[in-house]
Amino acid sequence: MAPKCSFECQCGTMKWHINDGAQGRHVMCYCADCQSEIRHLHQEDSYLKNGGTQIFQTLPSDFVFDDGLDQLALMRLGPKGLLRWYAKCCNTPIANTLPAPTLPFVGVVLPTGHDHFGRISAYANTEAASVKVRQRGVVGAIYSLFFRAAKSALTGTGKNTPFFDANKAPIVEPTVLTLEQREAARP
Ligand SMILES: [Zn+2]
Ligand SMILES: [Zn+2]
Repeated sequence: MAPKCSFECQCGTMKWHINDGAQGRHVMCYCADCQSEIRHLHQEDSYLKNGGTQIFQTLPSDFVFDDGLDQLALMRLGPKGLLRWYAKCCNTPIANTLPAPTLPFVGVVLPTGHDHFGRISAYANTEAASVKVRQRGVVGAIYSLFFRAAKSALTGTGKNTPFFDANKAPIVEPTVLTLEQREAARP
């Protein structure tokens, strides 16, 4: 259980928060795709440490946009990639979701060193880290992701998501990076 956690983009236009008591997992993801996103947004200094990005995996029903929604933007690294939400006013990363709301999941992107959610419990995709990092906690993180999602589906909260509309379409049209852009951002 973690208390409410509020965020704002670097220029202060967009605000969002995670609800009081949101359950989730605090993980560090070193995958090349997460790194590419951060690099494309030129946010390496604030969001990458040794190639890793801190993420709080939780339910979309516990994620709330508070202000500046007109600045919300969406990118995909490729046509099948995750939806990567960010604030276009200043290129601040916000969260990642699956392409459709079928499985209730959001990975909230945290600035490096963010300590609200305590100890990092999983280190994932460490083969892409820029230093040697031992992979750990990943099975537990995946298990807890599906467990939370299943529980959410059972209780009906799984349908509550601020990222998709009633037709299960993302509320912002995604931009897919060109091959050139993707190559340029790759770690
Ligand atoms: Zn901003
Ligand atoms: Zn990743």
